[in-house]
Amino acid sequence: MNTEERYNELCGLLLEYNRHYYELDAPLVDDAVYDKLMLELIDIERRHPKLIRKDSPSARVGGTASSTFTEVIHDPPMLSLGNVFSELDLDEFHNRCGKNYQGDYAAELKYDGLAVELLYKNGVFVKGSTRGNGTVGEDVTANLATVRNLPLRLSGSGIPDEITIRGEAIMTKAEFERLNELRARAGEQPFANPRNAAAGSLRQLDPSVTESRELTLCLYGIGRISVDGIISSESEMFSRFTEWGLPKPPVFELGGIETVKKFYNNWLEHRYELGFDIDGVVIKVNDFSVREGIGYTSKAPKWAAAWKFPAQEALTLLESVDFQVGRTGLVTPVANLAPINIGGVMVKRATLHNFSEIKSLGVRIGDIVKVIRSGDVIPKIIESHGGKNTADIIPPENCPVCGSILLKEDIYYRCVNKECQAIGSESLKFSVSKHALDIEFFGPELIVRLAEAGKISSIADIFSLTEYDLLSVERMGEKMADKIIASIDKRRTLTLSHFLRSLGIRNVGEHIASVIASEAISLDRLTAMTSAELMSIYEIGPEVAGSVYDFFHKEETLAIVEAMLKNGVTVTDEQRETPADTQANGKTFVITGTLESMGRKEAETLIEKLGGRASGSVSKKTDFVVAGTSPGSKLDKARELGVTVLTEDEFIAMIKQ
Ligand code: NAD
Repeated sequence: MNTEERYNELCGLLLEYNRHYYELDAPLVDDAVYDKLMLELIDIERRHPKLIRKDSPSARVGGTASSTFTEVIHDPPMLSLGNVFSELDLDEFHNRCGKNYQGDYAAELKYDGLAVELLYKNGVFVKGSTRGNGTVGEDVTANLATVRNLPLRLSGSGIPDEITIRGEAIMTKAEFERLNELRARAGEQPFANPRNAAAGSLRQLDPSVTESRELTLCLYGIGRISVDGIISSESEMFSRFTEWGLPKPPVFELGGIETVKKFYNNWLEHRYELGFDIDGVVIKVNDFSVREGIGYTSKAPKWAAAWKFPAQEALTLLESVDFQVGRTGLVTPVANLAPINIGGVMVKRATLHNFSEIKSLGVRIGDIVKVIRSGDVIPKIIESHGGKNTADIIPPENCPVCGSILLKEDIYYRCVNKECQAIGSESLKFSVSKHALDIEFFGPELIVRLAEAGKISSIADIFSLTEYDLLSVERMGEKMADKIIASIDKRRTLTLSHFLRSLGIRNVGEHIASVIASEAISLDRLTAMTSAELMSIYEIGPEVAGSVYDFFHKEETLAIVEAMLKNGVTVTDEQRETPADTQANGKTFVITGTLESMGRKEAETLIEKLGGRASGSVSKKTDFVVAGTSPGSKLDKARELGVTVLTEDEFIAMIKQ
């Protein structure tokens, strides 16, 4: 693989990992693996700047805001943090802040939760949002209002007319354990770690669900304040927060770079004594006016850094490999390990992802392997140290569950037997999950038990379940059965996008479902659309169009849709958002060059949200060309055709209107 191919592979992997981490609250890999790949990508970009892609994950913050929530624009954007990994890196950071910088640093804990912003107007909490992609977040006001340590009204004096406060919504370990115990009892999939539990609990459509799970806010910054200069440093900010009744940080220290090192080493050792997870410490220049002099990159402030704790890893023996079949028939190799204690958790299994991974690791059964984990994300093998009497890991020819011959697709093996029991039960588990119907109290174990009892065989059967059916399952009480029936009833009316994403159509996740639904509007129109019509929708390519078309035209899948409707599901028309009356409304934009404050995709999403259209090429029909740095030939063409050219600042001023 040459450098360009590796670069593109890294971009693809990291973008996919971002989607699972930020949008689905279900990471595919350990943070340490992610960070290692990101460092490799940044290194390639440094050495080969010509390869840098506009959508490079190194220039992006977070994931895309879910269309399920109303959008909130962050002004200024909510940025990420640069990383340091060692004392040497920290010394470099110190030098970058100014070789002679003698002022204080603020050393804080790096809370492992979900970044949020709170807007207070005249001291009253009026809006709360997630970070999203940094520029556009999700409105979770009602959910945040249920968080116990968030004051709905500020107290004390000197409260500005308007202030946005930033922090992290976290879940304590005790609450995480309580919640997972409840979920296990209801047969639901437990959350992987407190971070995912916090993110999943806050990004709920029903605020009473958030209320039933205790979240805690840890605040660490200000976004915007209506009166300049009333707070001049991080330490002063915390004092004001306390005066106003906002939660103060559990731990905080001021001092020089040596104090920061001591702070890090202390919390590296004592982190498990805290009642919540931290993944490192954060170092910030204390004085706000000094910060402004040091400045920002498009992704992070230059005056702050995150110093992450190293990954937890250990060596153990790879005893054997099993093959698991997923809902699309994909077969994943899973390693059985000699049990090993890593950071207080007994690890017995680790994913090997696919056969290309097995080959590149050079791993064999009987090898001593290095395993890492952070939080409770599925542990991963990252290195092989060889071993005696080892054996090859041979790809299976037959499905381990139904025995049918597997199909080889590139690096993957797939079971294509529609009757395969594993595919059936995995599809059913998906149907009730957060990514699909999102039925509370209805977890994977319950699905398996109902399927085994012959009560359900497809998503449609969920809607014909009776209390009697549920009570026939072992250990099911009447109260829980009532709750499950009520949760199912809540999902009898679905918008077209929610319905579409719940069907488990290949290549159709939440975002694509909402793109298609906002064009098709009604289920009748969607089922009547041709592949060509589907493909003409912006962002929809031949593969997705093919999957959707096939789903609504193949007898067996169409029968599922019909059965859902017959069992009482109503699909409501998608509401097209009425674009605000802005200058962008109805206008066609082309973006050329690199924008400093946002990625191209984000800018295009914003344009569309404001009722405009983003196009890839300049023509007479183009209304505006937005020119970032290093604009290409599109700028020349715009000038030639007399199209209005906007600088990035002019464009931002237009969208802010
Ligand atoms: P980050 O988590 O490394 O650091 C930035 C964030 O830290 C801020 O946005 C803020 O929300 C938070 N934070 C916590 N305490 C803070 C404090 N005291 N002061 C200021 N900020 C504080 O950056 P990120 O952009 O949120 O995420 C990138 C990281 O997330 C990666 O380095 C990786 O470890 C992880 N990630 C993992 C995966 C995966 O698949 N495992 C995918 C994407 C990202």
